[in-house]
Amino acid sequence: MALVENHALPVTLKPIGVVESSMKSTGAIPYTGNWAKVRVFPAYLPAMHRMTEHSHFWILCWFHEADRSLLRKIPGVNPHLPEYGVFGLRAAQRPNPIGLTLVDLEKVEGDMLYVSGLDAVDGTPVLDIKPYFESDIVFSPKPPHIRTAKYHLRERDFHKQALAHHGEECLGLELGVQMALIIDTCFGKIQAPDLQVTVTGDPCLADVLQGLTRARLANPARFCYRESTGAATVTWQKDDKAVKFRVRPGVDLTAAREAADDLFDFEVL
Ligand SMILES: [Zn+2]
Repeated sequence: MALVENHALPVTLKPIGVVESSMKSTGAIPYTGNWAKVRVFPAYLPAMHRMTEHSHFWILCWFHEADRSLLRKIPGVNPHLPEYGVFGLRAAQRPNPIGLTLVDLEKVEGDMLYVSGLDAVDGTPVLDIKPYFESDIVFSPKPPHIRTAKYHLRERDFHKQALAHHGEECLGLELGVQMALIIDTCFGKIQAPDLQVTVTGDPCLADVLQGLTRARLANPARFCYRESTGAATVTWQKDDKAVKFRVRPGVDLTAAREAADDLFDFEVL
């Protein structure tokens, strides 16, 4: 009998390692994941050969504390959203509570992987580890707008995305995140296909905003960058609304991190 026809066939998995983390309960884990270690069991150490050639991995965990009976729920990040089936969410609660998390590999020491971005508590069984390849990227996917209700969580989420795209903490990254938060509040989803972005002046800011908005230069043309030695400006346009931001003179990295309300002059076009 073909395996696919036998829906009742049990699947046996043996964990290949375990999460070691200071996070002891699921409620304590930050939305964007956490520093953690993955200890690989002795039988699987040969499978770690040449892992350090990669920078990012998918960690597949078994969320052993999760409710396996739940098939629909309201996304945990926002109680005002409608219910989704759990196959349209990445909630831990699902029939087979397999966690899938993309992590940065910081270092490998013996049987231990040091990673950041992992959303699993101490003692979580690890089922598998797979590398992230450049060919995995989808630059402009079209997911539903599952918007985090809390402003500081949106800020952390944008910051994580911006850093994943741009690769360094810098003034352009901080400015881009703060500007994206304002646009997200007044124009809605910043990845919307009808939101256009024009940046002049600061290539870091342009790169961060292209990463956050997923705006392409063509197909459709949503993004434009112009070199300039003057103050950086960004024009956002959607339907008949347009607003231009000009970065205030003298804004530095400290100001961008501490005085988020005082970074830009606005002009409604
Ligand atoms: Zn930069």
